[in-house]
Amino acid sequence: MIAATVALAEAGETEWDVLVIGAGPAGAAAALRIVRLGLRVLLVDRGRFPRPKVCGCCLSPAAVGELAALALPAECLPPAVPLHAVWIASRGREARIDTSGGSTVSREALDSSLVQAAIRAGVAWMPATTVTEIVDCRSGTVATVRQATAAAARLRAGFVVIAAGLADAIRIRSSGEGQARTAAGRPRRVASGSLIGLGATLPAAVGSLPEGELVMAVGRSGYAGIVRLEDGRLDLAAAVEPGAVSAAGSPAALIDALVSDVGGMARASVPSDALAAAAFRATPALTHTTPLTAGDSGQIIRIGDAAAYVEPFTGEGMGWALASGRVLGETFAASASRADFQTRFPVVHARVFAAHHARCRRVAAAVRRPWLFASAVQAARLAPAVAARAVPWVIGGGRLA
Ligand SMILES: Cc1cc2nc3c(=O)[nH]c(=O)nc-3n(C[C@H](O)[C@H](O)[C@H](O)COP(=O)(O)OP(=O)(O)OC[C@H]3O[C@@H](n4cnc5c(N)ncnc54)[C@H](O)[C@@H]3O)c2cc1C
Repeated sequence: MIAATVALAEAGETEWDVLVIGAGPAGAAAALRIVRLGLRVLLVDRGRFPRPKVCGCCLSPAAVGELAALALPAECLPPAVPLHAVWIASRGREARIDTSGGSTVSREALDSSLVQAAIRAGVAWMPATTVTEIVDCRSGTVATVRQATAAAARLRAGFVVIAAGLADAIRIRSSGEGQARTAAGRPRRVASGSLIGLGATLPAAVGSLPEGELVMAVGRSGYAGIVRLEDGRLDLAAAVEPGAVSAAGSPAALIDALVSDVGGMARASVPSDALAAAAFRATPALTHTTPLTAGDSGQIIRIGDAAAYVEPFTGEGMGWALASGRVLGETFAASASRADFQTRFPVVHARVFAAHHARCRRVAAAVRRPWLFASAVQAARLAPAVAARAVPWVIGGGRLA
């Protein structure tokens, strides 16, 4: 476990320049980049690290590039395994597409590596700490936090970065001279027909899938992907229609049905009893946008999945999350004042992400058309070299501007 570097009482007595909430790739990358600017940064997460997370665990070439750009010390490099093939199965057809530049890594290993790098760079770290509310005052912010064995405490910071992922449930209130009031603002906008995420890991002895290959099954109620992680376990992640789990009876039954529906995933050959024994986790609705700024003062910013996400078919979320931490750090460094930052950040954020999110939504729409998608799989089967050349178009190439 990565131990806290600061106790709650001491954290409550400190004036932090920046409080970062959530130590996924977005929060850890942001904390690392901001502390390198010489600011006093506190990173908190409700979980204890290493912790699991529903995720396909595939780093796109862009994500690999973002990781390299963080210049992590050698001891903090995550143990990623190169990904060289993706098998796609749909409607009884299966195609192998060669890939390069991507890799796979468990979220336990990746996220812990990033937190350790942030600590080494000087970030103060407080795990098992849930932020429930932020009051936005003209002179700074006050966050209410809870730990299991302590009374609620308050943390003061000049700036707050919400990197709490899809489960962001933090209440924001604005304070004028006197009483705090709930901040006005548009709520999270969830896309209609949005899928939810399901995930589990299976023991190393399960199935026959070799390292470095991803198998994806695309069915009527969603899609599921399986990869072998660096420690031998299998990671299973799926995006499915919200009603499909109750209709199937359980996540395991749904995944089993999805796999049979596509004619089986021979390459992975995961037995039904292994699925039934797995402990599945679920996420809220996946595809959404939420305002980048919260509160009235512009000193509370959302990044990563907390700001926007498009369902995971193209496997880009971690790259986007790392890039949002980079964009935040770079905009901080380039801004002459808080007002300057508030003007720049939304513009840069839209420039880096809008086109990628739009492409990803188009791909997701194509995946929802069974015959179109099955035809694409058939074409990939007949012309694998052409399919391999099309991969960068589907997953957005190797760079986030
Ligand atoms: C089914 C599925 C498959 C996916 N597959 C891939 C893939 O193969 N490749 C890829 O790149 N991406 C994939 N993704 C997307 C990827 O998982 C996310 O985009 C990425 O984790 C976002 O990072 P983040 O830092 O924004 O949020 P997260 O990684 O979700 O981190 C948020 C952190 O905030 C903490 N937190 C939340 N609320 C609070 C609070 N109130 N107080 C304190 N801490 C809090 C949480 O504990 C968590 O650690 C997948 C997603 C799903 C659902």
